[in-house]
Amino acid sequence: MIKSGVIGNPIKHSKSPVIHNYWLSKYNINGSYKAIEINNNDFEEQIYNLFKKGYAGFNVTIPYKIKIMDICDCLSDDARAIGAVNTVVKMKNGKIEGRNTDSSGFIENIKNNIDNYYFDNNNAMILGAGGAARACIYALLKEGTKKLYISNRTKEKAENLAKEMKEYGNIEVIDWNNKENYLKDIKLLVNSTSLGMTGKEELKINLSSLPKDALVNDIVYTPLNTQLLCKAKKNGNKIVTGIGMLIHQAIPGFEAWFGVKPKITQELEKLVLS
Ligand code: NAP
Repeated sequence: MIKSGVIGNPIKHSKSPVIHNYWLSKYNINGSYKAIEINNNDFEEQIYNLFKKGYAGFNVTIPYKIKIMDICDCLSDDARAIGAVNTVVKMKNGKIEGRNTDSSGFIENIKNNIDNYYFDNNNAMILGAGGAARACIYALLKEGTKKLYISNRTKEKAENLAKEMKEYGNIEVIDWNNKENYLKDIKLLVNSTSLGMTGKEELKINLSSLPKDALVNDIVYTPLNTQLLCKAKKNGNKIVTGIGMLIHQAIPGFEAWFGVKPKITQELEKLVLS
């Protein structure tokens, strides 16, 4: 039996077991995927114990996406650039590789929802400069975004992130209170802040100057149709919700551990949201 799981602390909230166990059952694979709570004190010992038990690898969530990098023998280009690992794979040669699939999950979600979508030669704006923003910013630049505006409540965080990512493309950090003035110049708006999430404040933004052919993506997926997305729809813009990013980021890990490239279905989306 092939073993995998997701490590973190706390871990009960994780949707990953729902996704991976759905696919294990759908593809009739003799495997297991568990949520594993790991304590900070004997972190390394617990990780090595998983490999001793025969784990093929695992997903990594808060708060270990950076700490896990210390025990990886090698990192994928994405993980190195983003500075975080969400997928660990024990390779055939015994080496432990850390990967980051949040960036490909983010891109695949948009490409899968909008036919013939191209990122290159268009300007985009991302709101937020937290953990999730790192993967989205890297992904947008790698996809050829002409100019990427980053706007974050704490401007210094956006400036630091822009410095780290400048080798991948053209970035301009703009004031949080001035972001609406740049909307006329973009074809893609991404919310990667936690604003709009159930229990959090609303993301207040006036979209009237956003071109009608611009796309709006909210990576927040609880609720699925955030107020930002509802506002964008009303404004005449196409929208992409955040649930697909969550599921797409799980695909490469599943394929590496269990040997099958799984597909996203509406049934799975509903299951994850329920
Ligand atoms: P994080 O590292 O804590 O970052 C939070 C971001 O939100 C920061 O940019 C923060 O700005 C901003 N923010 C928080 N409260 C704010 C407020 N009152 N006003 C303005 N900005 C505010 O969180 P994260 O891991 O990046 O996650 C962000 C969101 O993305 C969460 O809702 C999460 O559920 C979602 N997410 C979705 C997926 C997916 O697969 N769809 C994956 C990862 C994350 P400051 O820097 O100023 O604090």
